[in-house]
Amino acid sequence: MRDHYDDRAPRGRISLSRRGLMAGSAAGIAWSAAGGLVGTVAGTLGAPRAMAAAVSHKFAFGNFEITVVSDGHMMLPARLAAPDAPADELKAALAAAGTTGDMAQPPTNVTLVKSGADLILIDTGAGPNFMPTTGRLLANLEAAGIAPDSITKVVFTHGHPDHLWGSLDDFEENPRFANATHYFPADEWDYWTSDNAERGIPPDRVTFIAGARRNMKGIESKLQRIKTGDDIVTGMRLIATPGHTQGHASVEIAGGSESLIVLGDALTHPVISFAHPEWRPAADHEPERAVETRKKLLDRLATEKARVIGYHLPFPGTGRVEKKGNSYVYVGDA
Ligand SMILES: [Zn+2]
Repeated sequence: MRDHYDDRAPRGRISLSRRGLMAGSAAGIAWSAAGGLVGTVAGTLGAPRAMAAAVSHKFAFGNFEITVVSDGHMMLPARLAAPDAPADELKAALAAAGTTGDMAQPPTNVTLVKSGADLILIDTGAGPNFMPTTGRLLANLEAAGIAPDSITKVVFTHGHPDHLWGSLDDFEENPRFANATHYFPADEWDYWTSDNAERGIPPDRVTFIAGARRNMKGIESKLQRIKTGDDIVTGMRLIATPGHTQGHASVEIAGGSESLIVLGDALTHPVISFAHPEWRPAADHEPERAVETRKKLLDRLATEKARVIGYHLPFPGTGRVEKKGNSYVYVGDA
């Protein structure tokens, strides 16, 4: 996978960024600043200890205790956020999110939910085989005092590498979270295991299929297929948000008077997904369906003033959605 992504990116920039990370990159420091919040734990993101960045952020929500734990960040060509958008508008939207070069560095925020005796992980990060800047989840869970064996449930939003490839142990055979029941959206499971996965995916993504199937096989002994609308525990259920992938789902958590939606990749970019839900990110498998899902979801989130956690929104990815004219804005928690 590294080569796959390196091939799509100017090599000079990748190696510069690696060096930058070793020295405590600007991006790392920005996330550290973003984590200047109550309950944020600092640790390392592969940077020297003196340059530690925020890696987890904890808050109470109704009967639940939520901790967002960083899996690191991705390195992607910035234009993939909306390759078919007008170039000048895309440039402005990227700049509004702080991206001025050719590469974007979207964070990966994994949500951990404590509910009674259950410790529920939503997605498992990218593991060791995706990008050099991802796969930090285990170390960061440890920094937050959480052992993998203490996780009782894992819930997946979808089968992309940055959400699924952290599922297996060092031998790449058995579940990393050995004591957890693994809840996988039934539609999503069926998509990745079907012939349609091979037929419908661009050639540069075929490795996604092999990787998804390897991880899915490894967790099968602990698998619980789940349908949208079903509860994971009382007050926590799967909701349908298809389009990014065929069976993509989000997780809704009831906190008394308000809801918290763990978005997965239904909304990925802090500016583009909200101001331009009609733009078509390269990562969406079913672009038109993804647009429809974003519009419906944004309307609901703004109307209900729901809280959200975005997997790729600026760490820790917690905030709300507000309607502004005919579009929306993401308002991250201060
Ligand atoms: Zn993702």
